[in-house]
Amino acid sequence: MRMKLLTYSSFASPGIQPGEVEQILAKSRANNARDAVTGLLMFNGAAFVQAIEGPVAAVDHLYMRLVNDPRHCQISRHDDLALERRIFDEWTMGYVQINGGWLEGQYDVADALAREMPDSVRKLLMSMANTLPFE
Ligand code: FAD
Repeated sequence: MRMKLLTYSSFASPGIQPGEVEQILAKSRANNARDAVTGLLMFNGAAFVQAIEGPVAAVDHLYMRLVNDPRHCQISRHDDLALERRIFDEWTMGYVQINGGWLEGQYDVADALAREMPDSVRKLLMSMANTLPFE
């Protein structure tokens, strides 16, 4: 089965509450387990970066849902890479919060960053650090 990795960044819509991110995560993990999608979501209180990977059709279908979601805006698609094996294979959606330059996650951040992810994806994820503080 052909697989791909897609990354994008976006801005949280005004007024989004941290609790809403928890709801997004819960829904994401249920849907992604169903669709064989795995990945990582990073949030710094203002912007999201997400890496999603899995079967090409499942990733493309998820992206179509994402671009229509009113909880974020100004979505920029970055990488769209063919993938031989998954990077985030154990995570239906890993989550990392960036809080004033500190990385904290429900999953081990060092483990995530040490994975064999393409340089472009690593740079995108790291560009989130030291930007806007979580509020
Ligand atoms: P439902 O959950 O039944 O939603 C139906 C519609 O209502 C959708 O259009 C949805 O966008 C909208 N909606 C639902 N809740 C709210 C709300 N609280 N406020 C406003 N509109 C709402 N989904 C995944 O499956 N996997 C992911 O990895 C994933 N990552 C996401 C990352 C971000 C940053 C955001 C903002 C959303 C993410 N989502 C993800 C959610 C995705 O955009 C869709 O909302 C979701 O996939 C739709 O699930 P559903 O088809 O079961 O429909």
